Amino acid sequence: MVNAMEIYQLTPKTNCKKCGLPTCMAFAVALLGREKNIEDCTPLVDEPKYEAKLKKLQEVMEPIMGASETGLIVHPEKCYGCGNCVVACPVNVANDPRGSAIGLGPKSDKAILVVEDGVVKCLNMEECRRFGPNKIMCNACTATCPSKAIEFV
Ligand code: SF4
Ligand code: SF4
Ligand code: SF4
Repeated sequence: MVNAMEIYQLTPKTNCKKCGLPTCMAFAVALLGREKNIEDCTPLVDEPKYEAKLKKLQEVMEPIMGASETGLIVHPEKCYGCGNCVVACPVNVANDPRGSAIGLGPKSDKAILVVEDGVVKCLNMEECRRFGPNKIMCNACTATCPSKAIEFV
């Protein structure tokens, strides 16, 4: 899971206060705690020179933002990359049949659970069955994880 210092490195680091906080570090902490959104840093969103930082920040924040909606979090230190969850997730199987059938991935950019470098990662959390107004309390990923590396909070 990303930490506040890593998030801080992806802010403009100008302490301009436009987000309503005194420093970019305070913003990073607030973002991590889901008290702020990326869009609250208007320089980052509006200024083309920060485009690469914005893209990277969106990427690292995706699992955290998804967690606030779905409650799903990953404990990477407990994961040993078996791929059970990748195979079990019904959305993975539907969106990424080639990659998910063998517990690896991603072969599609719509997979939710992928194993990379031996550790599970959550992507595309908006595809999870627990996301959105028609959410279903799916638990296929946690039920099949032998090491409790995925949980709902
Ligand atoms: S708006 Fe962005 S650049 Fe300005 S202080 Fe907040 S995080 Fe830093
Ligand atoms: S809760 Fe269901 S849909 Fe969401 S990641 Fe886990 S198995 Fe996939
Ligand atoms: S989260 Fe659990 S089921 Fe998924 S790859 Fe890691 S150990 Fe296996």
